[in-house]
Amino acid sequence: MSDQQQHCPGFESNKSLSSVDVKCPDCGKKQEIFSDELTKQVKCASCGALFDAAACKVD
Ligand SMILES: [Zn+2]
Repeated sequence: MSDQQQHCPGFESNKSLSSVDVKCPDCGKKQEIFSDELTKQVKCASCGALFDAAACKVD
């Protein structure tokens, strides 16, 4: 009656991308990006403006 099957801790937390909502400062349109894009500039799908994703994050 041993319970040797344990889940490896940290297995899932390593490489998962989440999605983040950002809001275009130009036209106010909200769009969804991946969390790794927060370090980049994002092009607004609506008006085409480039903006800093991390600065325009919405929760
Ligand atoms: Zn826009």
